[in-house]
Amino acid sequence: MLRERLDEVEDRIRRALNRSGRRRESVLLVAVTKTLPLEVIEEAYSLGLRDFGENYVQEFERKASAVSSLPGARFHCIGHLQSNKARRAAELFDVVETVDSLKLARRLSEAPARRADPLEILLEVKLGGEESKSGAGPGELPALMEAISGLPHLRLTGLMTIPPFAEDAEASRPFFQQLGQLAEGLGLRHLSMGMSGDFEVAIEEGATEIRVGTALFGPRNPV
Ligand SMILES: *Cc1c(COP(=O)(O)O)cnc(C)c1O
Repeated sequence: MLRERLDEVEDRIRRALNRSGRRRESVLLVAVTKTLPLEVIEEAYSLGLRDFGENYVQEFERKASAVSSLPGARFHCIGHLQSNKARRAAELFDVVETVDSLKLARRLSEAPARRADPLEILLEVKLGGEESKSGAGPGELPALMEAISGLPHLRLTGLMTIPPFAEDAEASRPFFQQLGQLAEGLGLRHLSMGMSGDFEVAIEEGATEIRVGTALFGPRNPV
């Protein structure tokens, strides 16, 4: 089941890359395993997947001891992170994609990381203007980036966004374009954008990472 779905996702990725003349290596597939049991990560790993996205520190904590030692596996925190969970997140994850404040960056920077190299972080950007959503506003990015550059143990590589939900993937395109322009202006190369419903559009607009759950694992049960 997973194998077939993975083949399908890989086909979709390749077709989108072909349209933009890009190579397969230029986009990272992050398998989103939030709410799914440990065995799902292990099965995905056995099929060659190495990057996994999790949303909740507490939930991942329960799986981490079993999977964090899988050789080459990398775990991305893609859910909103409260600063009181930052220390634990820095220990558990290889990448934190949802940094949206200096306070959070500082906490991540101060946490004793479980490995010697710096923690990779992305800035989450709020583009839809939705009140409830986390993410830094585009106008806050230059100052945030400047401040973060003075913090030790962090390596800022790019931007991440979640566009407002829409049935039509094309509705995400302007947001993906905007994230690309922001990253270019800031000199950042890594763009984490696109989920099951719209990752082809994201790839066409320059995504270097897509985060895919449902298209690989089927619908999730509510937490
Ligand atoms: C759940 C989630 C995904 C995956 O969504 P699907 O539509 O299931 O592919 C991607 N990114 C973030 C931030 C998520 O929370």
